[in-house]
Amino acid sequence: MSHHLVAAEHLRYRYPDGTLALDDVSFTIRHGEAVGIIGENGAGKSTLINHLNGYFLPETGRILIGHQAVDKRSRPEIRRRVGVVFQNPDDQIFLSKVYDDVAFGPRNLGLAEDKVAALVQSALELLSAWELRDRPSHNLSDGQKRAVAIAGVLAMEPDVLVMDEPTSNLDPRNRRYLIGFLNGFLHSKIIVSHDLDFIWETCARTLVLREGKLVADGRTKEILVEKALLESCGLELPLRLQGGT
Ligand code: ADP
Repeated sequence: MSHHLVAAEHLRYRYPDGTLALDDVSFTIRHGEAVGIIGENGAGKSTLINHLNGYFLPETGRILIGHQAVDKRSRPEIRRRVGVVFQNPDDQIFLSKVYDDVAFGPRNLGLAEDKVAALVQSALELLSAWELRDRPSHNLSDGQKRAVAIAGVLAMEPDVLVMDEPTSNLDPRNRRYLIGFLNGFLHSKIIVSHDLDFIWETCARTLVLREGKLVADGRTKEILVEKALLESCGLELPLRLQGGT
């Protein structure tokens, strides 16, 4: 479906202090693709994510969601269609009760309360977190907070799910759970992570950024075995490929 397409066309972005953070980045992500974005600190990953929902607007080039360019006018609509889960759930969860927090987005759209209730329930159930609905949000575990933050994004029924470092602070069990959830979630997914084993398990395709440039774009299982490429980008082979050598 074309409305799930995400494309960057010659995207370039410079911060006010003159730092060129993205330099001529182009790619097209089609409906249902799962795409990892990797690169060392400072490579431009966060800057790129911030363009996908219009938080930043390109200096030159453009971002297309569906066939709509992201600009000031389209931004509210784009934010509904591109759900971004930030690295730190505390930046995302701001209402004191879990249910209300997940309901915030749908309520803000002015949906009827029965529709809101259905969206909240199905989002929390997808994350196996429905039993948390009456809990205060501030004293959840890291894994539970992550689940609630993701549910808040899913309750908006985004076409595209974007996640920034989703495994940071997750214990192995919750990490495993998140892998299972993502592999069952069939909309388009874009996942930024330093955890290359996680990318290996969740993303069929990987984009590699180095100093603001896209230096590789291809099948994860071909890119993540390329030691020299990864090393030139300040990265290491996934742990699963490091054993026994
Ligand atoms: P990553 O997410 O891959 O770590 P970023 O997108 O945060 O990379 O950063 C890309 C480049 O932009 C880096 O050189 C970084 O130092 C710079 N940068 C990030 N934020 C700012 C900012 N607010 N002002 C100036 N430069 C910035």
